[in-house]
Amino acid sequence: QEQWPRPARTRVLTVANQKGGVGKTTSAVNVAAALALHGLRVLLIDLDPQGNASTALGIDHGVGTPSVYDVLLGGAALADVAQVADFAPTLRCVPATLDLAGADIELTSQVAREYRLQKAVQTFLEAGGEETDYVIVDCPPSLGLLTLNALVAGQEMLIPIQCEYYALEGLAQLLNTVELVTSHLNPDLRVSTVLLTMYDSRTRLADQVASEVRNHFGDLVLTPMIPRNVRVSEAPGFGQTVMTYDAGSRGAIGYLQAAREIAERGRAGADAGTDEQQEE
Ligand code: ADP
Ligand code: MG
Repeated sequence: QEQWPRPARTRVLTVANQKGGVGKTTSAVNVAAALALHGLRVLLIDLDPQGNASTALGIDHGVGTPSVYDVLLGGAALADVAQVADFAPTLRCVPATLDLAGADIELTSQVAREYRLQKAVQTFLEAGGEETDYVIVDCPPSLGLLTLNALVAGQEMLIPIQCEYYALEGLAQLLNTVELVTSHLNPDLRVSTVLLTMYDSRTRLADQVASEVRNHFGDLVLTPMIPRNVRVSEAPGFGQTVMTYDAGSRGAIGYLQAAREIAERGRAGADAGTDEQQEE
């Protein structure tokens, strides 16, 4: 396998969009796997109580499995609850179990409730995890305390946008939340990456949405778009990523190209995009 460039320091990427079904989990899982399959060391944190990212990577997440819940509410270390993916030794996943469904409410009464994940990530990196190239966080479809924890923990935000009707609806609310986070909780956070998902080249609508998004976000939008492809949606049912399930599929190629561009943009010495960031 070709080796992709390592970043100068660990990149913490939060995959967020409060809309459900836009491809957050699919993108988090497949980008994480693509990076790991090219020699990079990746920690994926599943922060959605549904545990879809854990499922897609074939990671145990039944009730009772040590999980991100224990990290956020029990003081467990990320390194102790992470499991190695069986198809990629450099990919680890912190699973989400159903307990996490109550975490949004349980966190409300906790001290430093917005900083739980940030603390855990810092501890992880200081304790040797700085060998890790990418920490990728898959968020639930809401702007609650779980997503807030992810935004406070990350330096970069990756927003998947589905090439569909109302794609831009709700984005203002998301960007507003990002602004609140940068001014009050985490000044390091910036939107670094936008990924167009479920692109259907047969519809004119998809092209319209894609160019609207490119107008709005400029260079933050990755050049490759992820095509709508049934292989992408089949893979998780087999506990697989699309690259391991059907390497030649258009979906697999799309995610490989997207992940490669993410790695290239973040290569040591490259400007990871600060200057291109557009003011809204
Ligand atoms: P989110 O995490 O934002 O809720 P998902 O990643 O779970 O979204 O995707 C929503 C649904 O769309 C899932 O059933 C997934 O398998 C499917 N899906 C995602 N990306 C694609 C794609 N490129 N082609 C076909 N189906 C896709
Ligand atoms: Mg999801």
